[in-house]
Amino acid sequence: MKRVMVFGAHSDDETIGLGGTIALLSEIGYEVYVVTFCWSRQADWGDTGYSRVEWKGKIEEMRRREAEEADRILGVKERIGLGIPTQGVVNDRATYQHIVLLIRQVRPFAIFTHYHRDKHRDHRAVSQVTEEAWWKASESVLADLGEPWRAEALFFYEIFELFTRPTHIVDITRTFQRKMEALRCFKSQMPLLGDILGYVEGLAKARGYPIGAAYGEALLRSNLMPSKLLASLEELEDR
Ligand SMILES: [Zn+2]
Repeated sequence: MKRVMVFGAHSDDETIGLGGTIALLSEIGYEVYVVTFCWSRQADWGDTGYSRVEWKGKIEEMRRREAEEADRILGVKERIGLGIPTQGVVNDRATYQHIVLLIRQVRPFAIFTHYHRDKHRDHRAVSQVTEEAWWKASESVLADLGEPWRAEALFFYEIFELFTRPTHIVDITRTFQRKMEALRCFKSQMPLLGDILGYVEGLAKARGYPIGAAYGEALLRSNLMPSKLLASLEELEDR
């Protein structure tokens, strides 16, 4: 069984940026693990994502249910919440080592995370800490945090800061409606996000266009750890 890990700051980020790809991967047999930094199953972790005063104290339960419903629609195997307050994600030693530990426990084939040029401080911090932990998890250090594991590739997904030149487009035509259905689960966040459904649909159409698909999601592959293309020059000559 192949596994992938998707890192996001907030519980709707992975759905907005990567929901179609997640549904597709799950459909073709991958186990998808989502790690959400600012979310928890605990009832009292101090979520601030409420747009109405009367939701204070209830928002944690609302967002737990919303994420669980979206996960069911997209086929997420497990969502791990780190319970860090919103705007409070930092690339410090403890967070870094925690992510190394999680990567070594899950042993993913590929990792997906935020784009490091995002304007949201939580998104930037998640991007930096996970990209660096991808590399560190593969080294023979921190032996108490499990066996080294090298995921084949790390990809950034986009939300509101768009790539000028994505390296990959995933054709999500087949799973686009499920992405939209999952997105509609995040009812408590809708008042903050304007016409998010229109935005996501428009972007998916624009991203599908270059590959001739109705809907697409764009990715940018990290070159922090280069991947092997060919074993030898002879192999190149054989082609
Ligand atoms: Zn976010």
